[in-house]
Amino acid sequence: MAVEAKKFADEKRHRGEEVLWTKEFPTDLVREVADKGWFGVLIPQEYGGVNAGATGCCIIAEELSRVCSALANVYCMTFFGGTEPILKFGSEKQKKRWLPRIAKGTIAGICITEPYIGSDAANIETTAKRKGNVYIINGKKRFTTNVGIADIYLVYAKTSEKPEDMAKYQHLSAFIVEKGMAGFSIEKVNELGGWTGLPNGYLDFENVEVPVENRISAEGAGWRIMMEGLNFERTLFTAGMLGPMREAILYAVGHAQRRVQFGQPTIDAEVNQFKIADMIAGYETSRLLVYYAAYLTDLHINAVLHATIAKLYASETYEKLLSTAIQLMGGDGWTKFYPIDAFLRDAKVNQIGAGTSEVMRMILYRQGLRAMREDLRFPHRQLHEKLKVPISTTKPARITEVNEQTLLGMLAENYQVNPGLYMSWEDIKERFERVDYEQLNLLLINLEAKGLAKLYRDRKGNIALARATFEGLRKAKPREAYRWFPDWISREFIF
Ligand SMILES: Cc1cc2nc3c(=O)[nH]c(=O)nc-3n(C[C@H](O)[C@H](O)[C@H](O)COP(=O)(O)OP(=O)(O)OC[C@H]3O[C@@H](n4cnc5c(N)ncnc54)[C@H](O)[C@@H]3O)c2cc1C
Repeated sequence: MAVEAKKFADEKRHRGEEVLWTKEFPTDLVREVADKGWFGVLIPQEYGGVNAGATGCCIIAEELSRVCSALANVYCMTFFGGTEPILKFGSEKQKKRWLPRIAKGTIAGICITEPYIGSDAANIETTAKRKGNVYIINGKKRFTTNVGIADIYLVYAKTSEKPEDMAKYQHLSAFIVEKGMAGFSIEKVNELGGWTGLPNGYLDFENVEVPVENRISAEGAGWRIMMEGLNFERTLFTAGMLGPMREAILYAVGHAQRRVQFGQPTIDAEVNQFKIADMIAGYETSRLLVYYAAYLTDLHINAVLHATIAKLYASETYEKLLSTAIQLMGGDGWTKFYPIDAFLRDAKVNQIGAGTSEVMRMILYRQGLRAMREDLRFPHRQLHEKLKVPISTTKPARITEVNEQTLLGMLAENYQVNPGLYMSWEDIKERFERVDYEQLNLLLINLEAKGLAKLYRDRKGNIALARATFEGLRKAKPREAYRWFPDWISREFIF
């Protein structure tokens, strides 16, 4: 399949370039991709697919993205708005109804974003109100890719206003809305900075009656469907960045080998070779990240961290890499007579669609810290008996007596081993052999009241951090206890 997909991209490159000039949606290319069965890559055989997993989808997306972004994205969005959610969350009846059609080339779209809701997707305003056997959908969606060319749209709408459902993220539901349903119309088609030839726009829902059997999974399951879909979406979306990176390297190298300046091909200049080296490293690293996330997905391992890293890293690398390619090609690179300039225009949206780079970093901060929790346990440190310098220890001396004096002593010792740092409440608790929550808090509050300790309370008002004040340090230990000088310093300087 990979070999065939590469051959297809090589042979259809010229059609991708034509799309950049004509701006016409490449129906012929989509038809050929469908005829090859590639829309069914994720779909099991019993529903008309070839079941080649997330890895298979990424291989195809990578190659299609070499042809043009319109082809790669019509392909990817069909997985996000149709294949993946139906396969994962749809009923048997829904799978039989839609998956064989998608495998043959029925295009899907995904509708999360609204005029007033972007990154904050939990606050979707479009509503779906149940009335007998139908839901009445009202609202607007925007930035929907494949608008008009898709036959089915996965629409997220609010089905509950109850605060308890909202607190549990059970207020959203997902529906398949079909082209032709009364009250469902296109409001506007966007004029985008890239993705030439691929319609993207606003959708309007005015009392659209959607049968209950078009709801994917249970009422209230929308957020879960969206979140689980996003990991796959980010992986596949990122695979679609690999093709342009490869094309950029191809054109930049080919150009530099053929362009002679100052009596030599520009590729002979070391500075240009280094640029090419960085491009190759960026492309290959992005590729490793994408296929590792796909591999985890195929093993049914939650790939949130790796899909997020892949999307963040590749989208930022893509922009740099395309810009470098143009630099290597000089003025030619920035003309429309090569497709590289169009790929660069596509670059920016990779840092916005499927979650912005800022959202990726938010996820990474939270999920990354959680995943590394065990590796990030701050080591206990104590003064080395002979060297008298701070050194980490796996067996910190436990303090048996629990009183203000021993607590202050501990805070003073922390000043010696972690100068400038507070102790966390948990660190303190762990150093005592046995102390309960109230007892420890009371001791800390007493020290604070006496001006011997300074406390930091979190937003909920709980004591989170503590340290000794200067007065506390003085009270805890004699001045000599804190003094330390390296051997090389002349004692005559010390006072
Ligand atoms: C070409 C294109 C195709 C798209 N296709 C689809 C599609 O098919 N279906 C669909 O549903 N959507 C689609 N989208 C929408 C896309 O998912 C959103 O654009 C994206 O989620 C960001 O939302 P926004 O544009 O409203 O930006 P906003 O959410 O308004 O954000 C604006 C800026 O503020 C930052 N920001 C927001 N909140 C915070 C915060 N708390 N902390 C720090 N920074 C923050 C963002 O990172 C961003 O930089 C598409 C968008 C584009 C451009």
